[in-house]
Formats: sequence, structure tokens, C-alpha cells
Amino acid sequence: MAYQPIIVLSEGSQQTSGRDAQRMNIAAGKAVAEAVRSTLGPRGMDKMLVDSLGEVVITNDGATILSEMDIEHPTAQMIVEVADSQEEETGDGTTSAVVLTGELLLKAEGLLDEDVHPTIIVSGYRLAAKHARTVLDKLAIDAAPTETETLLKIAKTSMTGKGVGDSHDHLADLAVRTIQAIEEDGRIDLENVKIETVSTGSIDESELIEGVLIDKEPVHENMPTKVTNAKIALLGTAIEIAETETDAEISVSDPAQLQQFLDAEEQHMRDLVNAVVDAGANVVFVQKGIDDLAQHYLAKAGVLAIRRTKKSDLTKLSRATGAKVVSKITDISKDDLGSVGLVEQRKIGEDEMIFVVECDNPKSVSLILRGGTEHVVEEVERALNDALEVVRVTIQDGKVLAGGGSPEVEVSLSLRSYADSVGGREQLAIEAFADAVEVIPRTLAINSGLDPIDSIVDLRAQHTAGNTHAGLSSVEGGVADMLAEGVVEPLRVKTQAISSAQEATDLVLRIDDIIAAGDLSKGPGGMEDDPFEHV
Ligand code: ADP
Ligand code: MG
Repeated sequence: MAYQPIIVLSEGSQQTSGRDAQRMNIAAGKAVAEAVRSTLGPRGMDKMLVDSLGEVVITNDGATILSEMDIEHPTAQMIVEVADSQEEETGDGTTSAVVLTGELLLKAEGLLDEDVHPTIIVSGYRLAAKHARTVLDKLAIDAAPTETETLLKIAKTSMTGKGVGDSHDHLADLAVRTIQAIEEDGRIDLENVKIETVSTGSIDESELIEGVLIDKEPVHENMPTKVTNAKIALLGTAIEIAETETDAEISVSDPAQLQQFLDAEEQHMRDLVNAVVDAGANVVFVQKGIDDLAQHYLAKAGVLAIRRTKKSDLTKLSRATGAKVVSKITDISKDDLGSVGLVEQRKIGEDEMIFVVECDNPKSVSLILRGGTEHVVEEVERALNDALEVVRVTIQDGKVLAGGGSPEVEVSLSLRSYADSVGGREQLAIEAFADAVEVIPRTLAINSGLDPIDSIVDLRAQHTAGNTHAGLSSVEGGVADMLAEGVVEPLRVKTQAISSAQEATDLVLRIDDIIAAGDLSKGPGGMEDDPFEHV
């Protein structure tokens, strides 16, 4: 008797197996890499992304491009995650990580065509990645957190190629001073940096404010707009009559009773304001609302009050001024107040903002980023975020590498001799990995208009001769010593790119079966009928 085939999948599901599945996934990975490769490096181009609402983003940042692209293919999304984890861990190197992943997949495809089993490729790639990380570790140069020179170079390198015009030096200086201001015993929390963007003026007018900026105005027009020797109260509640939980109704039978009731309310407001004023505060930031009457009393007492301050801003104000956030107003005392030299309303472009400055030891700072148009400021913000991250990582790890493709050439050469020592079929995979890593200098060459083959040959020759920092210069238009040109990056950016690219490739190569659910528009499991219809 012939066997009946047993169907375990719901109708409409699609199954792709074996080589077809691998090919499909590899193609998806390569497509993602293709999408970003032209942006790599100092001479990389920008992309203009227009979303379905017509919003335009112009950027050179790998992570931004991929997140704006709205990628649907599930394998392609796995590659996008490489960029995300790279961004999270190091804040830079996303394009490199994605381009490397695409190249590792491409080389793997060649090996699959030669009938090398995927598990051999996977284990060879793992060995190669491990070896690459040790090569990078050995190549790394120590950088003390106090070496401002190095930190400036790190910041500048991370911003080259981004649309910030000639302002790299100024922005690098801002990034380094920002991190140095918030560093506390080696701990650096970027939550303590507040970035405000203003789309008027020039990038060079961007500035670091050693204090906190609050994008609000005083609640009452009779309040002062400048307070020196400010004593600051932070209130985590409202200065209002507490609303009752239930809808209570109060019946009054004669006008005197109503007046009594209103007087009681007024007295309560007065008590709240007095508590704050008696404690000695002349500036108050309130997280919630401020009653009209309370505004009036505060103004009369010469207090500058701000309402609806964001909770995150209260935290920053607390760090910058030493004030404690008080939740029961009547309990406030002198010890809860913070103090700074100056609180002042200033005009930045079109906006009025409150500056809380002249702090003794600001552990929370603000950056005002400026640029001629909104698109420019947005790209400045992305560039500065990268710069802040790489400076942070460098201070934490204390290890840097020369850039411009030089570490990749070093890794590639070392992997080739390592492959010989491993032997067997895995040797093929390690050699493929060595080839793949060269995609970085090759792409840098292409994007700078250099001949990629000549460049690679030249680089290999230099590195074999012992010039470990030889890379592709954006100034010289050829091979030069990257350390001498000040092109340096944190070690972690490079090791993380190798790790995440290898892990993503691993994940993709081990898949040999793709089962996709049927037409999802028919509902879960393709169910069209109401199961309760006949009940
Ligand atoms: P990623 O998203 O990978 O950081 P980038 O577009 O920032 O992509 O390019 C990074 C690459 O460009 C790195 O290999 C880095 O060493 C190189 N690079 C950056 N600045 C320079 C420069 N001034 N000269 C040569 N190479 C540079
Ligand atoms: Mg970069």
C-alpha cells in the first residue's frame, strides 16, 4: 500500500529548503550591505530617505539609514540587528559591521558552491573571528583618559564623512569637554547630557553649557527672568488643590459659606507658596501644574517658577544643582534646595529657554547644537552622538587603533598564516574570512575614487614590510600612516564589528529551512470561517 503524504503545515504556507533557503538568505544579507556600502568612510556619500509621510532624512549614518528604510525581509532584519547592537555597544562602526556581514555571506556562498558544509564554514568563521580579535588586541595602543589630544582625534575620526562641513574640530572639542564634564570616577552616563537643537545660526555657534537648559518659560509674566545666587527648589508634585478621587459635590446655602470655602482654598495656596519661599527658594521647578493663584503669590514673592518640567529634566537639575526633588511641599526645608550662580531666560534663535548655569560642579550638562536648516542640525546631532559614544568608550577601555582600513589589512594577513596552521576544510573558511575583512579597505578605496586592486596590493606590501598603521588616507589620496594623520578609533568599535558580523553570519548560515505562514490577511492560520457559526 502506498503511503499518503502527511501535510503538517496549514494551507498556503510556503516552505523553502536546503540550498534554496541558504541562497535566499544570503541574497537578503548582501542586499542590506549593498544599501549602505557607498556611505562608508571619509569620502562616503549621503543618503536621502523619504518616508511615507514625505518626511526627509539626509544622513551618512549606517544605523539611521537602516532604521529609516523600513526593511521587511526577516533575514534582512537580522542584519539590521547587527547595526543596532553595534550602535548600542559602541555608537560607531555600524556601516563597517553591516558591510562585513554582507561580505562574509558572499564568501560563504562561494564555499557552499564548492560543497563545503555550512557547519564547517560556521566553525571556521568562529575560529577566524576569535583570532582576529586577538590580533586587534595586540595591535591596540594604550590611551589614558587624560590624553585629551587622543580623545579629540577619536571624536574627529568618528565624524569624518558626516555632513558637518568644516566644523569637525569645534564639534570634537565640544564632545570631549562634554564627556570630561560628566565623568565621575570613570563612570560616564550619557543620560546626563541634554541636547537641544536649534535650526538657525551656523554649526560653529554650537556650544556646551555647563549646566541645564530647560525649554520652558516662567509661568507668570511678572516673574523675574534673571535670578543671581539662585536657590532652587524642585517639586515632584503640583502646586494645586488636590483633586478629589470621587466627584464630590458641595452644597452651600448662603454666600458667606461660599466665601469661607474660597478663603480656605486661598489660604491653602498661600501655605504652599509660603513653605517654598520660607525655605529660601527663589527659583522653583514644578513637575506638574501651578494654580493661577499660586502663580500670582509666587510672582509677588519674586520667585521664578516653571511648571510641567519633565521628570528627566528634574533629575538633571538635581545632579547639576544639588537640589533634592521634594514630593510633599509643606515638608520642604533649606537642605532640599540647590544653588547655582545664575538662572536666566535667554533667546536662542527663535526660542526662549531657561539657562541654569554657574554650577559649582555640574554633573549634568547641555549642548546647544546649531545649523542652518533642520536637516543639517539633525545630522550634526547624529554625528555628535557618535562622537560622544566613541570618547566614552575610549575613556572606559583605554585602547585605540589606527583607522583607514589599516587594522583590517593586518587582521587579514595574520588570518592567512593562521589558516595554514589550522589546515583541513576549516582552512578554506578562515581564508574566506581573511578575504572578507579586506572589504573595508577595498570599499574605502572605491568610495574615495581610488583603484581598489592597486590599493589593496599597496596596503599588503606596506603591512608585510612592517608598517602596521598603513591605511588609506583621505588627504593624500593613497596609502599613508594613519597614526600620523590622527585617524584613530576605539578598539571596541573594531572588535565588536568582527563579533557581530560573525555572529549574524553564523545565524544565517545555519538555517536550511524557511517555513513562512500563509496569507496573513486571512487571519491567524488562514482561518476564514467563524468556528461558532453553526453553534
Ligand atoms: P561606520 O558606520 O562603519 O563608522 P563610517 O562612514 O564612519 O562608517 O566610516 C568608518 C571608516 O572610515 C573606518 O574604517 C575609519 O577608519 C575610516 N575613516 C574615518 N576617518 C578617516 C580619515 N580621515 N581617513 C581615512 N579613513 C578614515
Ligand atoms: Mg563612523
